[in-house]
Amino acid sequence: MKVIDLHCDTLWKIDKEFLDGKNADLLKNDFAIDFEKMAVGNIGLQCFALFTIPQDQKPFETANRMIDYLERDVQRVDNVKIIKSYSDIEKNFDDGVMSAMVTMEDGFMLEGSFDNLDTLYNRGLRMICLNHNVKNGIGNPNYGKYVDGRPDWVTRNVKTGLTEFGFELVKRMNQKGIIVDLSHMSDAGFYDVIKTSTKPIVASHSNACGINNGLRNLTDDMMKKLADNGGVMGICFASGFLDKDKEVGKNTIECAIKHVDYVKNLIGVDYLAFGSDFDGVPNDIEINSCDKFPKLIEALSLHGYKDSEIEKICYKNALRVFKANLK
Ligand SMILES: [Zn+2]
Repeated sequence: MKVIDLHCDTLWKIDKEFLDGKNADLLKNDFAIDFEKMAVGNIGLQCFALFTIPQDQKPFETANRMIDYLERDVQRVDNVKIIKSYSDIEKNFDDGVMSAMVTMEDGFMLEGSFDNLDTLYNRGLRMICLNHNVKNGIGNPNYGKYVDGRPDWVTRNVKTGLTEFGFELVKRMNQKGIIVDLSHMSDAGFYDVIKTSTKPIVASHSNACGINNGLRNLTDDMMKKLADNGGVMGICFASGFLDKDKEVGKNTIECAIKHVDYVKNLIGVDYLAFGSDFDGVPNDIEINSCDKFPKLIEALSLHGYKDSEIEKICYKNALRVFKANLK
């Protein structure tokens, strides 16, 4: 069974090594994702996020450097290719080649410039998570109340959503064929985008509040709106988003399946996908690298999920959203 993974931060890990004067690549490494482990996990398409810290003074330069790593490494193998269109994805699936999609985790890497958006689009950028954990000129994060400069981790941000630039960016992304990703966006911004976007959206790595009422997870109402929009949400393996109990052995595959069950019962199986967040979160979880996806698939089957449902969750739902957005 092929798998599409909507989010990872492996390029960020590679870049940290580079900045430390070390060499790391995507062919084989000690991180959760490399090309060898992707082959074992039967990954059909891996989203590789461009990501950097908010203190980075040259985030656009960092974004380009991260695409350089990906381009460098796919040139050294014949079983991974960067996709730029939906037909590229179809061809790779047919040829048994794994696809790499360039995504971005924080729109601030565009540095507020539509020229930069065009440049990165030409290099393969096809999905943007509009913001990360701090306000960025595009939108506002999930956190609704700060105490001594830190989120109180309880109050959802239902007040501040997209900026004017953010609304314009969503329109341009729809026109160009770049998918809007709303993980990390405030509730208010989520609803702003749902009203604005003419294309299906993704929440690339967000789970269900009904199982774990964390700020990064989606409320029932948000999930219903996501279904109305025809979008897809990637069940994420980060322990803090799965179960509040961070003890290893509790943040298990079973726990991920609880979220899958919940979303399926609420909005149906057509809006589910996976967004691992590998290499962006601590590794103290049962599914801690991409070669372990077959274990998750086996567990879904043991839970009574039909092959047709597992196919949808593993890749078909994500493909539907890619097809509706990409040129
Ligand atoms: Zn994230």
